Amino acid sequence: MWIALALRDLRTRYPADRFNVVERLPVSGPQTAREIWRLKCADCPGKVRLKSEWPQVRRRVLTNAQLYIPGPGDSFGNFEVHLRNRLHRARVTARMELLMRVRSKL
Ligand SMILES: [Zn+2]
Repeated sequence: MWIALALRDLRTRYPADRFNVVERLPVSGPQTAREIWRLKCADCPGKVRLKSEWPQVRRRVLTNAQLYIPGPGDSFGNFEVHLRNRLHRARVTARMELLMRVRSKL
């Protein structure tokens, strides 16, 4: 399956980055890979969404991670643009530096 191959390729080229492929909640009807799968970046927080269960108290909730649609075509090209994003790179670098500091104290 191209998804698995593309994921392996991306992990080889971005070894410090933490991301995964997740399945969306099942929806009925014919589905393409693009409709089923989402890429999840573990370093970047998700979008702030308004939760409207309580109309009077609209709470802002942070989703665990931002999800990215695969593509264009059978590729993760869109997501790779995110991996090269300056903010994303800064988060990865900060995590790696923290990890090294923790390790040096062991
Ligand atoms: Zn990211």
